[in-house]
Parts: sequence; C-alpha cells; structure tokens
Amino acid sequence: MRIGAHLSSSGDFVAAAKNAAALSLNCVQHFTRNPRGGRQRELRDEEPHRHRAAREEMDLDPVVMHTPYTVNLASTKPRVVQFARRCVAEDLSLCVALAAPYLVLHPGSHGGQGPERAAKRIIEGLHEVMEAIEPSRRGSMLLLEMMAGQGNEYGSTPKELATILDGLGWHPGVGLCIDTCHSFARGYPLHTADGLDAYLESIEDTIGVDRIHVVHLNDSKQPLNSRRDRHALVGEGEIGLEGIERIVNHPTLRALPFILEVPVDHPSEYGEQARLVRSLRESGSTKTSRAPRD
Ligand SMILES: [Zn+2]
Ligand SMILES: [Zn+2]
Repeated sequence: MRIGAHLSSSGDFVAAAKNAAALSLNCVQHFTRNPRGGRQRELRDEEPHRHRAAREEMDLDPVVMHTPYTVNLASTKPRVVQFARRCVAEDLSLCVALAAPYLVLHPGSHGGQGPERAAKRIIEGLHEVMEAIEPSRRGSMLLLEMMAGQGNEYGSTPKELATILDGLGWHPGVGLCIDTCHSFARGYPLHTADGLDAYLESIEDTIGVDRIHVVHLNDSKQPLNSRRDRHALVGEGEIGLEGIERIVNHPTLRALPFILEVPVDHPSEYGEQARLVRSLRESGSTKTSRAPRD
C-alpha cells in the first residue's frame, strides 16, 4: 500500500525525499512554498533530475504537492485573487518540472458573498490557469480538496466540487483529493460501513470516484458534523481505529495513496503512524471478505 505523510521540504526536495524514505514512507506530500504564501523557491539545476533518481531508487511514489493556505481563488479582493491565480499556475509548473503528478488545492473561502459567487470566482480563476497551460506542459493534475466546511470554506460536499468541475467542462487535468477528517467533520459518517459506502456513492453520483487520486488520512479531534477542521493522530480521534481500518481497506480507496497530516511532535512519529496503518491493512485484508488481496 502507498502510505506517506506531509513533510517539510525545507528548501531541498531531494533531501525531503530521503527523509520520507528514512521514515519508511513510500509516498509523500510537501508544500510548494511557504504555507503562508510568499515566493516560490527556484529549483537548483540538478534538483529535478536528482529528485527523480532518488524517488526511483527509494520507490517513493507519488510525490504530492500542496499549495499554500493563503491561496484563495474565491476572494473578493483583487490582490488576493491575483496572487492565488499566479500561485496555482506557478505551482503547477513546479509539479511538471519535478514530475510530481498532483497539486492539491483548497478551493477557496467565500467570505460574506455566498457560495454561488464563490463558485463562479473559483471557476473563473481555474479556467484562466488551465487555459494558460500549453498542452505540452500539462502532465500534473490539479486536485481540488474536499474541505470541512469550516467558516466560509467552499467545496465541502461532492455537489459543490461537481459545480467547479462542471464549470471547467470536466477538464481531464482536474481531480479530487478527499480528507477523512474534513468529510467526517462536514457530517459524513465515514467511520461506519454504511456511512463510508454512502459517502463514496455520493461522490460517484456527482463526480465519479475515478477522479479521486489522493486520500488525506487523518482522524478528527472534533465530532461528526462539527464543521471544525482539527486533525488527530490515527486511532486517537472520533473516526477511531476501526473506522480508519475500513477506510484503508475499502475497495474504492485501497489502491490510492494515503497521506497523513496528523499532529506529531516529531517527524519520526509519522513512521510509527504509517506502521500502524499498514498493520490495519494486513488485518483488514484477511478480515474484510469483499476487499481483494494485494
Ligand atoms: Zn489541504
Ligand atoms: Zn484539514
């Protein structure tokens, strides 16, 4: 199984790949730049080549990139929107340069303007970004992350994300990243077998589960439907170990990369969390009769 974590890339993607492998992770996620915004660091000459060689040697795949939190395509402030569009475009180019297949994006926050206008702004922004990419530079997908619906976050339901995708003409370069903590907090009871099935069916009916490319595997500190985005260590939150076990063994999800974004005191804990998740997978494949064996 593919299990990784969100790790700092601290100015060097090659060292970051080695850090991930040292924790026995076989996929990884990094911010493209400082999570609070700022300029993108320029890659060093040999960095993409060395990064690719390191990944191949250590079987680290995929490398997922995440845009900074300050990106808000739905903002009513022109400067914020301008930064957001430039940032998504630049970060997609970075992904292409590094041959990183996915760039995860929080769709945006609508302030007081309401969800319909937010959706329109997000679609306009992404349309501009996607149109500007020459076909030869395509190759990394933009993944819209399903949010917890905290505050004015847009994109916390399959229907809202389907609105964006529909506005983009179901562009093949745009997919989905789901987050177990977010969707649980939004009110999807994916800690139960029926709730998980219903959640995935609602994605299938509106978007298609084949558009899901990455799962953020986080437990939730806050209860179901709290609409509060507070990640917990796997097995120490409201979803619980049994819920996480069902998620990583679900036939629709089990082949996808799982990325941990959990509150650790030290990065070494990500290794322990990954080991815990792997152990669930092994027991899951013997206990869950409908899940095919690896
Ligand atoms: Zn995210
Ligand atoms: Zn979150």
